[in-house]
Amino acid sequence: MTETFLPYGRQFIDEDDIAAVTEVLRGDWLTTGPAVEAFERAFAAKVGANHAVACSSGTAGLHLLALAAGLGPGDVVIVPTVTFLATANAARYVGAEVVFADVDPQTGLMGVPQFLEAADRAPPGAVKAVFPVHLNGHSVDMPALRQAAGALFIAEDACHALGGRHKAPSGAMVPVGSCSASNAAMFSTHPVKAIATGEGGVLVTNDTDFAERFGRFRNHGMVRDPALFQHLEAAFEPGEDAAAPWYYEMHEPGYNYRLNDLQSALGLSQLRRLDGFVQQRRRLRDRYDRLLRRLGPHVRPIQVAEGCEPAWHLSVALIDFAALATTRSAVMRQLRDRGIGTQVHYIPVHTQPYYRNRYDTPALPGAERYYARCLSLPLFAAMGDSDVDRVVEALGAVLDLPLESLS
Ligand SMILES: *Cc1c(COP(=O)(O)O)cnc(C)c1O
Repeated sequence: MTETFLPYGRQFIDEDDIAAVTEVLRGDWLTTGPAVEAFERAFAAKVGANHAVACSSGTAGLHLLALAAGLGPGDVVIVPTVTFLATANAARYVGAEVVFADVDPQTGLMGVPQFLEAADRAPPGAVKAVFPVHLNGHSVDMPALRQAAGALFIAEDACHALGGRHKAPSGAMVPVGSCSASNAAMFSTHPVKAIATGEGGVLVTNDTDFAERFGRFRNHGMVRDPALFQHLEAAFEPGEDAAAPWYYEMHEPGYNYRLNDLQSALGLSQLRRLDGFVQQRRRLRDRYDRLLRRLGPHVRPIQVAEGCEPAWHLSVALIDFAALATTRSAVMRQLRDRGIGTQVHYIPVHTQPYYRNRYDTPALPGAERYYARCLSLPLFAAMGDSDVDRVVEALGAVLDLPLESLS
C-alpha cells in the first residue's frame, strides 16, 4: 500500500471554501469589491484589533508596514536572525539597515536580552524599530519587549501565530494581533499558514492613521479624501463645493499590493474555521510532544515559551544529529523516501551572502545552536493522529532509535 505524501504544511480547503470563491466568480467584483472589506472586518474582530488591512502577501505587507512607519535610510530595524528572509528584507526595501538579534536556543525566539544586545551593536540613536517574530506560533514576551524598547516602533511578524494568545501588559491573555504591546502586527495567508488565500497578508493595528497610510501605500499612494487634497484648483471646479468625481492625488508613490475578492472570500470562509484548525494543530502537536519524548535524550520537541498559548504553525523537533551519528540531510532524504516532508526553519538570515557582504554580524550562538538542531515535521489541520504516529515511527527508524509501541 502506498501512503500519501505528508508535506510539512499545507492548506485545508472544504466545499464551503469552494462555494465562497465560486460566488465571487459569479458576481460583479473580482477585485476592490465588498469581499475585501468583509474579510478585513472579520479579521480585525477575530484578533481584537481596531483595523485590519489586507494585502497581496505577508512580504508585501512587511514592505508597506516599513514604508508606513516612515523607516528609511539611516534608520536601523532590529530583526531576530531566525526568521524568514522577508522580515529583514522589508527594512532593506525602504533603505533602512538591519541589525540582527540572536535568539533563545531552545525556543528560537528573540527575548529582551537578545534585543538589547543587538541594539547595543547599532550606531547610537539609529534604532527606530523592532520586528519581533512569533516563531513556530509561540510568542515573544511582548509586554517585556515594549518596556525594553520604549518608544520604538514595534511591528510583530505574526505570520506563524494567527489564532494564538499571549500576555498583554495588563496580564490578561489576549489574541495575537490585538497589538496591546505593539504598533502593528503582520499575518500571512500563504497556504502553509493557519488560513490560506493562495497568497495574501493582513496588517492589524489599533492606530487609525497608520492603517490609512498602509492602505494608501497598498493602492499606488492614491488619496481620495478631499480633506487631504493639496492641489485645490485641480480638485474643485470653479464655484463647486464637492471635489471633481474623478479626482485623486498622489503624495507619495505606492504599489499595487491589493488582495482581490476571490482571495478575500476564501479568507473569510477559512477564518470561520480558524478555531477548529488551531485546536487540531494543538492536538497533533501534543501528540508529537508525547511520542517524540520516547525517542530518547537526543530528540526533543520544542519547549513551550512562557506567557503564551501557541497556535502551532510548525511542529519542530530539536535533534542532536551529531550525537546520533547522522546528518540532517540524510534524515530528511530518508524521511522523504518514506513519504514524509520536512523542512528547516530557518537558515539564520544574517548568514545569507547578501547580509554577510553588507554587515559584520558577530557570531550569534543561540541562533547557531537552534539552527543546527531544528527540523520541522508535518503539521497541518487536515492531518490525523495516525499521521503523527507514522511520522514519529519513521523518524525513530531513520535515526535508528527503537520506539516502544505507540499505542
Ligand atoms: C510566511 C512568512 C512571511 C512572508 O509571508 P508571505 O505571505 O509568504 O509573503 C514572513 N515572515 C514569516 C515569519 C513567515 O513565516
